[in-house]
Amino acid sequence: MSRVVVAGGAGFLGSHLCDRLVERGDTVVCLDDLSTGTRENVAHLQGHDRFSLVVTDVSEKVELEGASKVDAVCNLASPASPSAYAARPFDTLAVGSEGTRRLLELARAHGARFLMASTSEVYGDPEVHPQVESYRGNVDPTGPRSVYDEAKRFAEALTMAMHRTHGVNVGIARIFNTYGPRLSPGDGRVVSNFIVQALRGEPLTVYGDGSQTRSLCFVDDEIAGLLALLDSSIVGPVNIGNPDERSMLDLAHFVLDVTGSPSDIAFEPLPTDDPTRRCPDITLARKELGWEPKIDLREGLERTIDYFAHTMRGQ
Ligand code: UDP
Repeated sequence: MSRVVVAGGAGFLGSHLCDRLVERGDTVVCLDDLSTGTRENVAHLQGHDRFSLVVTDVSEKVELEGASKVDAVCNLASPASPSAYAARPFDTLAVGSEGTRRLLELARAHGARFLMASTSEVYGDPEVHPQVESYRGNVDPTGPRSVYDEAKRFAEALTMAMHRTHGVNVGIARIFNTYGPRLSPGDGRVVSNFIVQALRGEPLTVYGDGSQTRSLCFVDDEIAGLLALLDSSIVGPVNIGNPDERSMLDLAHFVLDVTGSPSDIAFEPLPTDDPTRRCPDITLARKELGWEPKIDLREGLERTIDYFAHTMRGQ
């Protein structure tokens, strides 16, 4: 049983991580400024004696009440959807830099394990396919996505500096596109957009010609991978994602098939710097963590569609 600080714990991924940690007997201190995370995401944990939510911006302050020892610090604090980080460019840069530094200092002070939630975005628009961890990426440092990509690259550099200079026990996960319950219906990501549109009978908005690819991991698998890394002493970086690669046009048709929706497809302009393809090589995760995803796209989408159908009925 450990005491774990989860920064960004009221977000999509963070709240699922809090769930698994509490379930297995850990004590969780969730830090979140509720900018993209929500109280609803952790409402079911409120009142649990091993869970507390502290509303705070980790870019400004990381202070814990009491002197209890912290065993692990997980840094999932950041806007993650392209529209969310485009709307909050300076907050995104601040949380990747100053927020990460404060959380690393906390881990250092407690001799705690530090898990950095990095991203496949560090590979930019990749020239190496599928992406292996040794690939250094093709990122536009001034493009519209740079506030996120460079913040995460900087966070990785900070994490490694803390490891090399002060011996902090760190692990870096590179998270690929993840979907599942608690995705925000309005945050613009492809799976939530397509499901909401299909359930409303509205056209599914495919950007560009839809030939760009992503590889989608169901949230339960993603969290199992993050926990495996947290519980190990692997530094990484380690890709945590599902290598089942699909074009966005195929995904749109698949969502129509699984929902049984009569919606059409509407093609819209491709955002600037939208990566043309993305797929993780997970050889390292399989070998070092004994982890691989188990839930296929149909099952994951069915579970996510159930969630959205239920939430939308309540609106
Ligand atoms: N996309 C799309 N329609 C949408 C939302 C996204 O075709 O309504 C595309 C987007 O252009 C990108 C992919 O789906 O190629 C994944 O987008 P998302 O914003 O989910 O995540 P990203 O991987 O780009 O960070």
